[in-house]
Amino acid sequence: MATNKAKKTKPQIKPAKTTNTRPPGATDYIGNADGPAKAPRPGMDEWIRQAIKYANGSLWNNGSYGQRDMKGKPGTLSVHATGRAVDLSYRDMPDHRGKPNGRQLSKVFIDACVANANELGLQMVIDYWPQPFGRAWRCDRMAWQVYQKPTVSGAPGGDWWHVEITPKMADDPNLVKAAFLKVFEGIPA
Ligand SMILES: [Zn+2]
Repeated sequence: MATNKAKKTKPQIKPAKTTNTRPPGATDYIGNADGPAKAPRPGMDEWIRQAIKYANGSLWNNGSYGQRDMKGKPGTLSVHATGRAVDLSYRDMPDHRGKPNGRQLSKVFIDACVANANELGLQMVIDYWPQPFGRAWRCDRMAWQVYQKPTVSGAPGGDWWHVEITPKMADDPNLVKAAFLKVFEGIPA
């Protein structure tokens, strides 16, 4: 009588590694993928007005829309050209823009933005100030990364925040207004 040896089961295919799973709430970072915009985008303009309103007088618009390449990276379209980026400066100016403790005040606002990133359509924030080479927050990691080598022109020591938002927010000033009301006033949309 032939013994029916149990066949060795083949090793099962292991499930894919999940080490690159994104954190909860993370979204795709689009960079300059939507290409140049023909004009400033109304939702971005509104986002800037709201940022200035809620940053305790510490921030002013040091440049948003413009057709240009990234600083220090010729041939790479700046996100400013897409109409979804702004440089918000906290430099204390003789004409009353900014505040002496502008970084501290504006950091409270930026931290609130990062904590409500998806509500406010945040894609990226670059902080040019810290040693050694600045740092950046991005929506696809939902976290800051401290740059360990020269990465962005203006760091360290740059006294402004570079902020990028989603196309959806950049095109919809009413959505932007509603989002800021919800996040900063607790008024539901
Ligand atoms: Zn910028």
